[in-house]
Parts: sequence; structure tokens; C-alpha cells
Amino acid sequence: MKTVVEKERSLNVASFCDVAVAGGGIAGIAAALAAARHGAKTLLIEKSWLLGGLATSGLVTIYLPLCDGRGRQLSFGIAEELLRLSISLGCEDRYPAAWLDGEGDRTKERFLTQFNAQVFAILCEQLLIKEGVEILYGASVCAVRTENGAITHLVTESKSGREAVKIKCAVDCTGDADVCRLAGEKTAAYARGNVLASWYYFSGPDGYKLKMLGAAESVDKGAKEKEKPHYAALDARELSEMTVLSHKTLLDDFKKDGGVRKDHALATVATIPQVRMTRRLSGAFTMDEADAHKSFADSVGMFGDWRKRGPAFELPFGTLHGEMIKNLAAAGRCISVTDALWDVTRVIPVCAVSGQAAGTAAATFSDFTRADIPALQSALEKDGVKLKL
Ligand SMILES: Cc1cc2nc3c(=O)[nH]c(=O)nc-3n(C[C@H](O)[C@H](O)[C@H](O)COP(=O)(O)OP(=O)(O)OC[C@H]3O[C@@H](n4cnc5c(N)ncnc54)[C@H](O)[C@@H]3O)c2cc1C
Repeated sequence: MKTVVEKERSLNVASFCDVAVAGGGIAGIAAALAAARHGAKTLLIEKSWLLGGLATSGLVTIYLPLCDGRGRQLSFGIAEELLRLSISLGCEDRYPAAWLDGEGDRTKERFLTQFNAQVFAILCEQLLIKEGVEILYGASVCAVRTENGAITHLVTESKSGREAVKIKCAVDCTGDADVCRLAGEKTAAYARGNVLASWYYFSGPDGYKLKMLGAAESVDKGAKEKEKPHYAALDARELSEMTVLSHKTLLDDFKKDGGVRKDHALATVATIPQVRMTRRLSGAFTMDEADAHKSFADSVGMFGDWRKRGPAFELPFGTLHGEMIKNLAAAGRCISVTDALWDVTRVIPVCAVSGQAAGTAAATFSDFTRADIPALQSALEKDGVKLKL
């Protein structure tokens, strides 16, 4: 392949912050909230123009359970706060009455809901602003500067051109571990790749509805599924091809009920690629499905398994940082877990749990490899997070 050399240039250091959060999906929202609430000057850098990532721009509007399916809540703190916020102006579908109003059986009804994507995104934006987070939209983190095993600056590309931000700590919430890769931290890619997904909203005689085209990999393990194209989703051209096919697939599906009419319209399509697992941090500890029900001395929160009732997990802090770059944490769908556990930790409530832990740590420490774990745990507990099974 031919190469060209990019001319060396000096960059304007546009700002300074204690905690820079790259990516404003659920993990980034939780991380920025936690960091700001712990007194850090916090900057949230988001490449699109709406918060929420896959949960909003990707139209993945089902806030999966905070509970274990047997009546016990596992995820608390910001994970619960965001669930409540997401339906504070009403829900689209299931309302967890047993959990929010005490009406019903918590062993039967899981603590999950379905929210309106656009309402939730704007409510998150208002909450972050209220808590003092600076949001920089339309800016991609595209390079980093490191010194002595720490990131000193993040470089962004935006309407203002290329600029540097001086930082104390960074939290990688890009979903694809972009900052980890740019900083030279160890990463791993998802081996199987993603099946095509084309979730979209349409309006019909029964109102505004979500159509979930493209089921999760975990329930698609049959031979037929293996023959379908799989996407690693780390290459711009492959992602673009996948997006074109996703658009065609959803339009074909929409046309099955005819064209656009008064009672039939294509309401919303995703504006970011609907990919589940891509690249992740390969951290100080890599957690696996077999770690269900295990106790971890460095637990920073808990989560259940959205696919089945029973399993419960403690989240070790070692899944959120690596060993090469001391002031970089990861949160959300790019934390350090095996391919088998990835399907469990990538979902909205777990992204909020890891985001809160990473943001709290980033506000408090500048070297995650030597973090004072009891101090971190006590800060999280004060903020309502439960840590032990
Ligand atoms: C089809 C599909 C169905 C799903 N179904 C469910 C479900 O029903 N319920 C559920 O709970 N979960 C579901 N998930 C998973 C879940 O939605 C996501 O894994 C979760 O929302 C990820 O949150 P995140 O914050 O880690 O990452 P993302 O949502 O991917 O957010 C990352 C953010 O970072 C930004 N970004 C990326 N790179 C950069 C950069 N270099 N610089 C600046 N910004 C950057 C992106 O624009 C984005 O806003 C589903 C996922 C898919 C694809």
C-alpha cells in the first residue's frame, strides 16, 4: 500500500481539564457525571451531535435489567438514575411497575424499560450541563500525546480544526477503545464479528414503533447465522458497506406494508452504525462468564445477565484499566472482558456501572495501576453503588 507523510505541525492547546471523557454514549455520560460530581473539571468529547451513542442515535431504546431476574437489584447508582431519567417524561413500552411503584412481582418482572431516544438524549445533555460538564460536540479524538506512560494531551479534529486538550486523566468511552489504541495500550478485537442489524422506528396505525431487525449474536448461533456476513466494524469502508446494506434491509422491510401514507411512515433511522462488539481494552484483568458469583476485592459495582435469570457479577476495577498507560481508563462496551462475557457487559446498565466507576476513579487518581481501591469503593458506596454480591 502507498503511504504519504503527514506534515508535522504545532497544535493550539485549546483547553485544560482534569478528566477528558472520549465518547458521549451511556458509558461516557455516566463517567462524565461521576467525574464532575467528584469535583473534576470535566470535558466530554463526542464526535456526533447528540448524546447517548447506540442507545439514542443507534435507536437501541431498551434499557436492559438492573436486576438478576430473581427479584434482586444488582446495579445501582448512576445506572438506576439514568433508567429513571430515561422515562421521566414517560416510557415507550414496558414500565417496571414492580420496581418503581412496588406493584407486581419482582421475581417475575425484570427491572427494565423502554425509553424515547431523543427525549433521553436531551435530558442527559441538560443533566450534564447542570452538573458542570463541558460538552464538545462534533469533535473526534484522533490522536494522543503520551509521556512516561501517561497521556498528556488528547488531540481532537472538529470544525475548529485540529486542537489539543491538556488532561490529567482520560476515560475511553468510544465503544471501540479508540483512545486505548491511539495511546498504545493493549487491545483485542471481537473474534466473531457483528451480524447485520437494522433497528428502526416507523409510525403505523398503532403509533410510533420500534422494529428490531437483526437479533443479538448470542441467540443467533445456528448454522444459518454463521453463513451470514459478519463485520469486524473497525474499518471505515467495511462500516460504510455495512451501513448501506442496513439501510437497504430496513427500507425493504418498511416497504412490505406499502409506501408512505398518512398512517405509515419511516420515522427514524440510526445515525451511527449498529455494532455490538468491536475492539476492547485488554486490561490488567480480563473477566469471563465463569466469573459469575465470584467475589473480587476490587469490585466497583455489580450487574446481572440480561439473557437469563440468576447470574450475578461483581465488576473488578482491573477490567477498566491497562498496564501501559497509567492515567487511562475504559468504560462501556470496550472494557476488558472475554468474547463470551462481552455480550453481557456491552448493554446499557453495565455501561453505566463501568462509566460511573471509571469517572469516579479518574476524578480521584492519576495512576490507575496504583489506585487506592478502598477509597474508590468508599466513594462509590457513598454515591449509592452496591459492590458486593
Ligand atoms: C442492534 C443492537 C441492539 C442492542 N440492543 C440492546 C438492548 O436492547 N438493550 C441494551 O441495553 N443494549 C443493547 N445493545 C447494546 C448497547 O446499546 C450498547 O452496547 C451501549 O449502548 C454502548 O454504550 P457505550 O457508551 O459503551 O458506547 P456507544 O453507545 O457506542 O457510544 C460511544 C460514543 O462515542 C462516540 N465516539 C466514538 N469514537 C469517538 C472518537 N474517536 N471521538 C469522540 N467520540 C467518539 C460515538 O459517537 C458514541 O456516541 C444493542 C446494540 C446493538 C448494536
